[in-house]
Amino acid sequence: MGEDKPAYRRVLIKLSGEALLGDLPYGIDFKRTREIAREIKEVRELGVDVAIMIGGGNIFRGAHGVNEGMDRVSADYIGLLSTVINGIALQDALEKEGITTRLISAIEIRSLAEPFIRRRVLRHLEKGRVVIFTAGLGSPYFTTDTAAVLRALEIKAEVILKATKVDGVYSADPMLEAGATRFDSIKFLEVIQQELKVMDSTAIILCKDNNLPIIVFNLNVPGNIKRAILGEKVGTMVS
Ligand code: UDP
Repeated sequence: MGEDKPAYRRVLIKLSGEALLGDLPYGIDFKRTREIAREIKEVRELGVDVAIMIGGGNIFRGAHGVNEGMDRVSADYIGLLSTVINGIALQDALEKEGITTRLISAIEIRSLAEPFIRRRVLRHLEKGRVVIFTAGLGSPYFTTDTAAVLRALEIKAEVILKATKVDGVYSADPMLEAGATRFDSIKFLEVIQQELKVMDSTAIILCKDNNLPIIVFNLNVPGNIKRAILGEKVGTMVS
């Protein structure tokens, strides 16, 4: 092991629903989900406590329902349920890799997920189980980013690893503007003032007020989760 010394003992990984898309336009690519599970296994093997907040954007986002004329609350509940669907897929993939997991849902779905009970979740983490948080905070008008920050604070994670499809935080959207430059590190206040797209503003402010750093990195580069946890320079550190 020697050089593989993790920089963090406990992390919360924010996986957007899109992470599970692979090359699909919609839904869950099970092959891609297994690849992610294998990467999570690698960091578990370092002895790091891992919790995951999974999004639902590959299936349904509240905003989409609203655009189609739905009531925001109903649309958000569909979004919430889509995160549970993703959580089940991720749990299955992790267990196929031999990892013990617990699925937690912020809305009660007793037959397949546990409710969020902080002390119980802490116990799971102490026992080396990977905890998968689904259904965000269980309330409409929130995102899984904000849920990720709150849960990270509650379980005393030392960092949020925000897995994305770009290499970090840029001065502008790199998919749209060729001249966009990437930051190695950036302050919360700059993210807020420059309205940079890292997480939604509620999530960023919660991180800032509680000094919880975020590493924004590209999940599509194999090994990046482990690199980030080993303290190597990947993506952008927001602190
Ligand atoms: N959502 C919600 N409350 C929460 C978390 C999520 O209402 O605490 C809903 C919201 O409609 C959101 C959807 O669930 O659009 C999917 O979550 P999100 O968009 O955060 O997923 P991601 O973009 O990470 O895939």
